[in-house]
Amino acid sequence: MKIIEQPLKSNWSNLVRRPIIKEEKLDNAVRQIMLDVKQKGDLAIFQYNAKFDGVNLDRLIVSPKEIEAAILTIPNQLKAAIEVARKNITAFHQSQHIVEPIVETTKGVKCWRKSVAIESVGLYIPAGTAPLFSTVLMLGIPAKIAGCKKIVLCTPVSKSGKVPASILYTAQLIGVDIIYKMGGAQAIAGLTYGTESIQKVDKIFGPGNQFVAKAKEFAQQAGIAIDLPAGPSELLIIADQTAVPEFVAADLLSQAEHGVDSQVILLSNDKVMIEKVLAEVVKQLVDLPRQAIAKLALENSKVIFFSTLEDCVLFSNTYAPEHLILAATQTENLVDKITNAGSVFIGNYSCESAGDYASGTNHTLPTNGFAKTYSGVSLDSFVKKITFQELSKEGIKNIGEAIEVMATEEKLYGHKNAVTLRLNNLEDEENK
Ligand code: NAD
Repeated sequence: MKIIEQPLKSNWSNLVRRPIIKEEKLDNAVRQIMLDVKQKGDLAIFQYNAKFDGVNLDRLIVSPKEIEAAILTIPNQLKAAIEVARKNITAFHQSQHIVEPIVETTKGVKCWRKSVAIESVGLYIPAGTAPLFSTVLMLGIPAKIAGCKKIVLCTPVSKSGKVPASILYTAQLIGVDIIYKMGGAQAIAGLTYGTESIQKVDKIFGPGNQFVAKAKEFAQQAGIAIDLPAGPSELLIIADQTAVPEFVAADLLSQAEHGVDSQVILLSNDKVMIEKVLAEVVKQLVDLPRQAIAKLALENSKVIFFSTLEDCVLFSNTYAPEHLILAATQTENLVDKITNAGSVFIGNYSCESAGDYASGTNHTLPTNGFAKTYSGVSLDSFVKKITFQELSKEGIKNIGEAIEVMATEEKLYGHKNAVTLRLNNLEDEENK
């Protein structure tokens, strides 16, 4: 990891850059995949599955038999662990279901909002280097709570042509309707345009690598809604002298192992802590099965010394990390100063893995600086909120004149007339 001391603010914009593929190259590659799927349908998906995942399929939809067989292979210990996560994720997302009150803004003018589920949703479950069945919980649970009528799922398959049993088990547990064997940009294209065997959806959800994230941008241009830009994982840790070096190193490696384009950043106001953490990273890396991936990710990663914790938080807000860990004991002051982050883990016992799996918060989070403007996936992501208003005779009398004046100023006489006619009608009624 590159070590930097007290960088000047003028240099921060360079330091917050992510290790992404050259925009033009990525753009061209994904544009071609989207176009091919749009024009050739299933055939293009079969071809790209073969090209990128080395698998030759003759059907994209997982059969009920495959699901039944997979369920039988899930050990009880894993079922119990999934149940812990399911319960907590359900509790947290259920609490986001809030019925808003009817507000009488002026006497006789009532306004309210109602959440209505998005009808059909497509969930992308990453599985390029690791099958993230936990993502099925993170996306499927809020989709079900929201009441989405059709929930389809897609995930890449390896040469065996099989979807990992853990993904199939979790999908049937949640109540997913259809599972497609396809990953990468071609999967997003399938959900966007529809093909012979794929039904297009109203909104696409899920994290993924840069190809998936870019394809979701194209999907949006094609009129399909997306949850958020959720690309390669990132973690920023702010550690003071009260942090536990072993914990900090383990957390850094937990994100570095995601993918070669993941990025981890350590900020500290304590040089001794930095030395201890780096020594621990080297020590723990030896036993990490995915050390080859983690090592490459660490090459894109940085350690920065700032003399104060305030500067650490200021830098973190500029970086806008997907995940932020405050590895410290006195955290209240720091928490108040956080303005940009996807999800925050407070104190030495709040490891990022907790949010990845089972604390209850969602692990589908904005990356690449988008935490400045986007929230992670929540129940809100699966609904649209329709506003309603009901005006009584008294209501239109109370705000009618204001509307007429404003419409006249904007020279929208049709708007004005819609009010004037009603006010005149009421006046006639009263004069009878
Ligand atoms: P993935 O499922 O996202 O991508 C695999 C697919 O990428 C393959 O099926 C293939 O079709 C496609 N692909 C691979 N190489 C390609 C190429 N050269 N050209 C075109 N397409 C290609 O799985 P992954 O690669 O393991 O990535 C998962 C990602 O998800 C990681 O980067 C991880 O950090 C990220 N993630 C993000 C969040 C979040 O909330 N932001 C959460 C979990 C995981």
